[in-house]
Amino acid sequence: MEFNPFQRRFRKGLRKVALVYPNRYVGGIANIGLQQIYAELNDLAFCERFYADFFEGLRSFESGTPLSEFEIALFSLQYETDYFKAVEILKKSNFKGIKIAGGPCVMENPKPLLGIFDAFFIGEVEGKLEEIVSARSPEELSGIEGVYTGKEIRVKRVYSKLGKHIETEIIGEGAYGRCFLVELGRGCVRRCSFCLVRQIYAPPRWRRLEDLPEIKDVKKIALIAPSPTDHPNFKEILQFFVERGFEVSPSSLRADNIDQEIAELLTRANVKTLTLAPETASEELLEVLRKEISFEELRNAVEICSGKFEKLKLYYMIGIPGESVEDVLRIAERAKELKRFIPRIEISLNPLVPKPHTPLQWLSFGGEGGIKELRRKIEMLQKECIKHGIEFSKPNLREFILQTILARGDESVSGLLNGEGYRNYLRSLGSFELDKELPWDFIDHGYKKGKLAEEFESLMSVINKKGF
Ligand code: SF4
Repeated sequence: MEFNPFQRRFRKGLRKVALVYPNRYVGGIANIGLQQIYAELNDLAFCERFYADFFEGLRSFESGTPLSEFEIALFSLQYETDYFKAVEILKKSNFKGIKIAGGPCVMENPKPLLGIFDAFFIGEVEGKLEEIVSARSPEELSGIEGVYTGKEIRVKRVYSKLGKHIETEIIGEGAYGRCFLVELGRGCVRRCSFCLVRQIYAPPRWRRLEDLPEIKDVKKIALIAPSPTDHPNFKEILQFFVERGFEVSPSSLRADNIDQEIAELLTRANVKTLTLAPETASEELLEVLRKEISFEELRNAVEICSGKFEKLKLYYMIGIPGESVEDVLRIAERAKELKRFIPRIEISLNPLVPKPHTPLQWLSFGGEGGIKELRRKIEMLQKECIKHGIEFSKPNLREFILQTILARGDESVSGLLNGEGYRNYLRSLGSFELDKELPWDFIDHGYKKGKLAEEFESLMSVINKKGF
């Protein structure tokens, strides 16, 4: 059961707006952006939510009202593979109103979805909701700052100032458990070369201590930001909530930010699993990814946390340019070394997706050896982990292939969304020429493409210098 302070009855004159999350409730309710949009929409209109695992996304979560009875549907696209469900919902529901999509995937590249939605919102939508829900036709959306209908030559991404945090939220059983989500910041101060967040939520913004909400009636809070431990007052905030008896779950942790005090506070906050993302076990590849956390820093963090956590979960990437089989197998070797501090370790492996707007956007998927070599390396690492009693979470390669095709495609990949197999689109996994116009170049995220290309070339020179 959830606690929803916003739910209201429909009154004549209010526009009916559907907020659709084409994925599971557990992810949707743990999304602070959606919480904020829902709260604001219910001040402007009559809004209900739709989730893929409730009525197949065809009826509202609150009252079971069919989607076709709403005037506007706002879809939040967090993952490229959610496009399939979004298309299915639109087809099956026979929705005839205005269809708008937003979210990180749209900010990345909406081109494969042209023809499916009437418009896209590129940016953080909070300040623009009033204008959007007032539109009576798709044509009226055109001209609103941040809106892309397919006709605009260039669209500048909209971002908001972080003011006062929302005081009330829906409390449901989400990805962080039953908790209040506290958004500490947006954007990131780091420069990891593979990271889309750093580009599409720039500039980094932190919420001030005095703008944080007063929280009542829940036992747990989740601290949300792309890299929450980089908040200048992270320790103070953590301490504040721990001392008031809350369980606290940070959305992620950076190994180089963990010290004795933070480790103690996390234990008191009832964090059971220490989750870190070293990304690679090769010092050279760290330079390519610009992750800026050495193995010594990782070992140091895990040693500090020794005896305080039940499990260590480590996120790694595979398919990085210049990567050798030895680099991949070193992941298991290092995990073996860390077992003496935290005996239970899980490795979660994900292929690198060369995302639009990042300096790695010109790369092919899978690294030098392509998909076949990627598969071979994954199996070798899996065997090595099993041999040493390390839990291994294997990536679903098909999902990552689909993700890459949809993230970097244009209208020509839309057949994929109409049931065509991905094998017809494998060419989309190749590299791009540096001077080629890319489908997402029309979005202005505030960086210069020439500078991004310089960054790419300097990262590739690291590989060439090391003689990979
Ligand atoms: S990967 Fe994490 S630390 Fe690196 S830029 Fe992205 S959000 Fe920041």
